[in-house]
Amino acid sequence: MFTEKHETASFTWDLLGDIETGRPNLGMSCPVLVYRLFKQNMTAELIRQFGRDKAIKLIKNAGYHAGRECCNAVFDCDLPPQMFMISLQMMFKENNIAIINFEKADFDNWQLVIAVNEGLECSGIAPMGHPGCFYLEGFFGGILETYAGRKFIIKEIDCWAAGQRVCRFTVEPSTEGHDYLDLIS
Ligand SMILES: [Zn+2]
Repeated sequence: MFTEKHETASFTWDLLGDIETGRPNLGMSCPVLVYRLFKQNMTAELIRQFGRDKAIKLIKNAGYHAGRECCNAVFDCDLPPQMFMISLQMMFKENNIAIINFEKADFDNWQLVIAVNEGLECSGIAPMGHPGCFYLEGFFGGILETYAGRKFIIKEIDCWAAGQRVCRFTVEPSTEGHDYLDLIS
């Protein structure tokens, strides 16, 4: 039986549960293989059900909402930009999500280039001919939008799925009030 909260389908951080209490023996960690088994199959099923374009929007949206909740729950949004980005780097490393580096960090104009090495989403997968880290794209969007209080256009320009050995994301301020919620039509 779903609770009322589940039926509203809005994600909040507390839905992750009390993992320490719930997994006293197995703990917080789980193999990358298990994450990818879930992620790749969920992606395939969404594409099968809704088509590729809609599926990508749904996955980005999910990442966006996860990023927003994560930013509010985990990060100190009062930090200056450089310190905030260091805390973002550390969180990614400590949780074995990826090793991220800021190849460009122009906080005056909010133009960033984020390189993602050994990414949880795709490092090591066979090339598919296009970038594939849609969830992470949305996740960065949710975190950065919540921190900076403005909207961004984030694009993955390099990716293991596209044949490169690093994933790379560009971040530009949006001039059109971009909102991930509008992506669902
Ligand atoms: Zn990628």
